[in-house]
Amino acid sequence: MTLSSGMMAGTVAATTPHDMDEAEIVERIREIKGRLGKRMVILGHHYQRREIVELADFRGDSFELCRAASRQDDAELIVFCGVRFMVESARILARTDQRVFHPNKRAGCPMADMATRGLVEKAWRELAEQGLDDGTIPVTYMNSDAPLKAFTGSHGGIVCTSSNAAKVLEWAFERGERIIFYPDEHLGRNVANAMGIKSAIYDPRLPLGGLDEDELRTTPVLLWKGYCHVHTHFTAAHVADARERWPGVIVMSHPECTDEVIAASDFAGSTSQMCKRVEEAPPGTAFAIGTEINMIHRLAFDNPDKDVHTLSRSLCPNMYRVNLYNLYDLVRTLEEDPDAAEVVVLPDDIMRDAKLALDRMLSVVP
Ligand code: SF4
Repeated sequence: MTLSSGMMAGTVAATTPHDMDEAEIVERIREIKGRLGKRMVILGHHYQRREIVELADFRGDSFELCRAASRQDDAELIVFCGVRFMVESARILARTDQRVFHPNKRAGCPMADMATRGLVEKAWRELAEQGLDDGTIPVTYMNSDAPLKAFTGSHGGIVCTSSNAAKVLEWAFERGERIIFYPDEHLGRNVANAMGIKSAIYDPRLPLGGLDEDELRTTPVLLWKGYCHVHTHFTAAHVADARERWPGVIVMSHPECTDEVIAASDFAGSTSQMCKRVEEAPPGTAFAIGTEINMIHRLAFDNPDKDVHTLSRSLCPNMYRVNLYNLYDLVRTLEEDPDAAEVVVLPDDIMRDAKLALDRMLSVVP
C-alpha cells in the first residue's frame, strides 16, 4: 500500500486569497482562530515558515505536537502545519472524535518515501529466508509513513524519535539480537556509534541488502539505506569553516547529519533540544547550527541577544509547501463547514498496528 492511497477524503474550498497581502491573511486567520476558540488547534513544526509558526497554538517536533493535540480536551479540529508523516501520526494519536487536517497534502517527505511498505516487506522476506526474522526487531524513526509504522507494530517493533532513539534501541536489544533501523541510516548509525554498537548499511535494492550471509547474521544494527537530503547537505568542511569564522562558536547538528558532521560538532540533538540550548544560553553565546534553515532563522529572530548562524543554508521544500494561503483556505473552510474540508483518514488496520509501535515507544519513554 502506498502512503497516499486512501489518505484524504472530501473537498477543499474552491478559491485562494491571492489578491490579499500577507498581513491581511494573518489578520483573517487570527480572527477565525478567535471565533473558533478552543474548537480548533493549529500545530506548527519547528521547520515551518516563521509566519506559520507564529500562528500556531503549539510549536515543537512532530511527536511533541501530536501529544499536545491529543491532550486538548476541547479541540475538535486539529490543523497540522508540517509534512505528511507528521499529520498521519497526529491522526493515529488523536482521539477518534478529533478530526485532523493538513493545509497542503502535497507536503510529503522524500526520506519517508525511501522505505515503502513493499520494499520493507521484500527485505523482511529475505531475512526470513535466512532464518533471521525471529531475532530481528524493527525500529522505525518517527519520520516514516504510517504503513511502515504499522509494519513495525505488527512485527514486534517500536517507533523512536531523534531524542529517545538510544533508550528505544536498549528496549529492542532486550527482545532481539538484531535491529533493522528504518528509514534514516544516519540517525541509526549515529545512535549505534554513541552506544558503541556495530552497524552496517542494508540496501534493499541489493540481494541480502548488499551484505554477505555472515555479515547479515552478525551485524547488530542493520541500517536501511535512506537519508534526509536537508541534513546530508552539511559537511565537516562547513563545521571547520564555522569555527574559523566565529571563534568560540558552539556547533550543533541534527542526528540526521552524517557521522562525520556529528563527530565534528559540539552537540547533536533533536530540533527541540537545539532550540532549548539556544534559548537557555547566556546572552552573547554564538551558535552555528546544522539543520533546516527556517528553524535557524526563527531562532536568530527570537534570540536577538545571541549570535545564531547556520552551518550552511539548507531548506526543506516540503515543509515550505505549507503557507499562509493554503492555511487560510483551510481554516476558512473549517469555520464555514468543517465537512467540506479534506480530513485525514487512514485504514483501520494501519491505525491499529502503527499505534502499537507508537504505544511501545511511549511505554519506554513516556
Ligand atoms: S527535513 Fe528531511 S526528514 Fe524532515 S520532512 Fe524535510 S526531507 Fe523529510
